[in-house]
Amino acid sequence: MNNVKDLKELKRALIKTANKLKDRGLVSEGVNKGSISLRVAEDQFLISPSKLDYAELTEENLNLMKLDGSFVAQPSPVSRDSYFHLAIYKNYPHLRAVIHTHSKYATALCLANRPLPFITMGMKFHCGGAVEIAPYAPPNSEECTRLILEHLKDKKAVLLQNHGLVCVGESLAGCYETAEFVEALSESYIHALLLGDVKEIHEGRGDYK
Ligand SMILES: [Zn+2]
Repeated sequence: MNNVKDLKELKRALIKTANKLKDRGLVSEGVNKGSISLRVAEDQFLISPSKLDYAELTEENLNLMKLDGSFVAQPSPVSRDSYFHLAIYKNYPHLRAVIHTHSKYATALCLANRPLPFITMGMKFHCGGAVEIAPYAPPNSEECTRLILEHLKDKKAVLLQNHGLVCVGESLAGCYETAEFVEALSESYIHALLLGDVKEIHEGRGDYK
């Protein structure tokens, strides 16, 4: 377990990233904002609470959850998203951060039930390849969690049909970059589709480093 000083720093990092998501327009105001979490120990993660604007997050109101579903600290209403964050940490021990957004262009793809094909080499680094779309299931249901895992695979992002985007990372900074990258590329992709066909890249080609 991290010591108190480390936990304080990790809380600050989560709050800073949440506010960056808000400042860059990746989350909308108020309750329709998604969720963000950060693993702080092998079996524990900090997660943003339900119904609280990211601007109102403090070191005191973040929930600290264990992978068995219990809470080390629960000062705020629990986000129902907590359970798919938990499932991701449980299934991927190397991951340290999860960000869920309803960002505008990524969500547009979700509403049209369109995955993000492999269209730029940057996707290899930021997404781990093409971004799949998980079929619709009621948000935060067990079925929804199962479908997230099934379509995330070893990638860094997955779109959820009629819902939004889930990104994962081995670091909070990397996870944030993926969320920002997917949103920007979704915008370009949607504009490109208006111009005509968009060519896919075959993942095996090129020596992208
Ligand atoms: Zn959501």
